[in-house]
Amino acid sequence: MKPVLVLMNGALRLDDHPALAKACATGAPVIPVFILDDAAAGDWKLGGAKRWWLRESLIALSSELESKGSALVRRSGNTLDILMALIEETGAGALHMTRAYEPHLAKLQDAVYDLAEELGVTCRRFAGNLLLEPEQVRNKTGGVYEVFSPFWRRALELIDGTTPTPAPEDIPAPETWPESYTLDLDPKPAHWAEPIAAFWTPGEAAAHERLADFLDGPVAEYKDMRDIPSVDATSRLSPYLANGEISPRRIWHEAMIARGEESAREKGADWFLRELGWREFSTHLLFNFPHIPERPLKSKFAAFPWREGYDDAVTAWQKGQTGFPIIDAGMRQLWQTGWMHNRVRMIVASFLVKDMLWHWRTGEDWFWDTLVDADLANNAASWQWVAGCGADAAPYFRIFNPVTQGEKFDPKGAYIREYVPELKDLPDEYIHAPFEAPVGVLKMAGITLGKTYPKPMLDRKAARERALAALESTKGE
Ligand SMILES: Cc1cc2nc3c(=O)[nH]c(=O)nc-3n(C[C@H](O)[C@H](O)[C@H](O)COP(=O)(O)OP(=O)(O)OC[C@H]3O[C@@H](n4cnc5c(N)ncnc54)[C@H](O)[C@@H]3O)c2cc1C
Repeated sequence: MKPVLVLMNGALRLDDHPALAKACATGAPVIPVFILDDAAAGDWKLGGAKRWWLRESLIALSSELESKGSALVRRSGNTLDILMALIEETGAGALHMTRAYEPHLAKLQDAVYDLAEELGVTCRRFAGNLLLEPEQVRNKTGGVYEVFSPFWRRALELIDGTTPTPAPEDIPAPETWPESYTLDLDPKPAHWAEPIAAFWTPGEAAAHERLADFLDGPVAEYKDMRDIPSVDATSRLSPYLANGEISPRRIWHEAMIARGEESAREKGADWFLRELGWREFSTHLLFNFPHIPERPLKSKFAAFPWREGYDDAVTAWQKGQTGFPIIDAGMRQLWQTGWMHNRVRMIVASFLVKDMLWHWRTGEDWFWDTLVDADLANNAASWQWVAGCGADAAPYFRIFNPVTQGEKFDPKGAYIREYVPELKDLPDEYIHAPFEAPVGVLKMAGITLGKTYPKPMLDRKAARERALAALESTKGE
């Protein structure tokens, strides 16, 4: 039988992997392939943190495949050229892949389809990374939902909860394996990802372990604790989802089993699954409005006078040196771990696009480069949500106050003390606003504003007024 090539891009796992399972079911030899094609990504070339994750994830995937008698063929370069060469080398009769929704990747997959057809190879594209395909969730008139709640209500009616397909027992191997190459995924500089590596274990096995641990305990507290950044109360599954190491159907299935009889657990699981719903919604938006990574969904925001480019203020934000402790803690958590708590992502994003009046694309780009869970749909939709220009967005005039947000979600300053250790000896009363602390208190805590910790980079009252005036200036356009 002619071998089946399985393009593993976007689904770096064996469990609940329809493209792989169907290839194994044919009984033909299966050749799993991963192609690194930076040129095809255009502006959305993988960011630094995600490159590191991918490198580790491919190592994990290779060893999973080897344990099933298979292997991973790695190549880098033009996807079409590589596939054409592989089809010729292996005599493959079929090509399977997992459907992508990012516009540039969907376009690439269309071209792969055409190529396969030209070469007389059967090409099949399988769903695998969403609970529902974007075409399935439509309103009564066949239109696209732009508001989350009705979208999710409809989605809940459609999700069928089918049991996910387990990883194949063994994977039929070809007689000879095509050449595989080392990919250029090393962080630059080499030590850059060391702290991130100390925090995460990429790969499918780690994803399943994380899910099991979460459903075993924290899920029961999820509803009440998920907004508290000092507590490990959320699943932290986002990088595994963003890299296709676990499927949302597997998460759904296991969470439904874990819901059980206890009401807290049930409520927690429902809230958690609702967050997965936001992931579905973001992808649904990207699929229907493919311009959202670059342009606002609400077109009237195209003329909003956001500042663009880079200067010292942006660097201070990126490095966590703004003088506002909750912002600095969040930005440093991102730099040190490649991840940031959702509540804090909202606060730092609001600060950039409202207080600093900087373009949301500047924030989107920084997150793209530094997040291990960088996801085109979630990142674009979330930045637009905060900036007020996206679907079902927070109104622009609702401007988070970093001091009161800190007091509300990190009342004792535990999160700040972890990531901004130079403030750790400040009393709780001043931990969110060191600039309001009396000189004696600062001295006792070993702090000299402007030296050991920055003075606030802006006057919040003036910044707020400036942001509201900017909003006013776009009215009527
Ligand atoms: C400005 C900004 C940028 C963001 N960029 C990204 C991004 O690039 N990639 C990314 O995966 N998430 C992004 N998010 C959404 C959210 O912050 C993360 O998904 C979440 O913090 C991941 O942590 P968790 O896995 O513990 O989430 P949990 O609370 O355990 O949620 C479970 C899963 O649901 C999904 N999810 C949760 N919240 C959201 C949300 N608001 N929107 C869409 N999906 C969600 C994630 O896949 C997550 O893993 C962004 C949010 C903001 C405000």
